[in-house]
Amino acid sequence: MLDVRSCTTLSEAAGILSGDRQAVLIGGGTLVMRDVNEGRLTEGTLLRVTDPAFRRIEAGGGRIELGAGVTMGMILANRELAFLHPAARAIGGPAVRNMASVGGNLFAPAPYGDFTVALLALDAQVVLQAGFGSGRATPLEEFLAARERSGSALVTSVQFSRPANPGDFHFRKISRVKPKGISVLSIAAHLPLAGGRVAQARVAYGAMAPTPIRARGVERALEGKSLDAAAIAAAKTGALEGCRPATDAIASEWYRREVLPVHLGRLLAGEPR
Ligand SMILES: Cc1cc2nc3c(=O)[nH]c(=O)nc-3n(C[C@H](O)[C@H](O)[C@H](O)COP(=O)(O)OP(=O)(O)OC[C@H]3O[C@@H](n4cnc5c(N)ncnc54)[C@H](O)[C@@H]3O)c2cc1C
Repeated sequence: MLDVRSCTTLSEAAGILSGDRQAVLIGGGTLVMRDVNEGRLTEGTLLRVTDPAFRRIEAGGGRIELGAGVTMGMILANRELAFLHPAARAIGGPAVRNMASVGGNLFAPAPYGDFTVALLALDAQVVLQAGFGSGRATPLEEFLAARERSGSALVTSVQFSRPANPGDFHFRKISRVKPKGISVLSIAAHLPLAGGRVAQARVAYGAMAPTPIRARGVERALEGKSLDAAAIAAAKTGALEGCRPATDAIASEWYRREVLPVHLGRLLAGEPR
């Protein structure tokens, strides 16, 4: 049997999650409720969090914090987060976006997780709370590597720095069905320029591995270079480093490997997809 329990504070929810292996947090529930409706989740406690901090957006300054319960719809309604709108708009259709949370997206299995790809390119930190203690910030890349083992912790928020120039941040989702199709792949890139050269590039992919990953071969190829044809060609050569895409109902592994460098090259050259 399934119980539903509402928690008025984040620490109450974190305490229950860490003490009860059968407790499952519901963010927006777009994935959890599918498991319930399709009979994969039949036992335990579903936890709702009503603490306002869970859905708080702090985006007024250089450092941004999004409560884990913030939805894609809330991001799209916030002008200070305009640079993230292409990533938030890439998640499902309007009904899904009104429920789908930032925290839930961190756990969404590939080929889902498009918003997390954007967060990875922004060098985000994940704030986790286990038990009744206070939160601890972990780099998103580390969190994703250990995601399957972090089952009992509550993600309370994500934090990242606002790009100094929003035009340096790019996001693309490649899907066969427009506008609501699931990703063949997604790419996010933060490419700050110093004196016309890329400085501290961060590039991330979705659906190219079991979790979103950094494109380290691309980052290395671009570092210190101007974004000209030679640098883009070098980036495309290193594009598949670390990739382990799956074959699924959306695309084959072969297809994902074939099209990734093409779309990466277009993104870097500022061409339409
Ligand atoms: C029709 C449809 C289309 C979709 N399209 C896309 C798409 O285009 N791109 C995409 O990326 N995703 C897509 N999704 C998947 C999903 O909607 C999103 O990934 C969404 O962001 C998941 O968030 P949620 O709040 O609904 O997660 P939930 O279903 O609430 O939770 C998912 C998992 O994360 C855990 N969890 C959630 N929040 C926390 C937290 N704060 N701390 C600890 N654990 C937590 C839950 O316990 C659960 O295991 C789609 C889903 C559907 C049904």
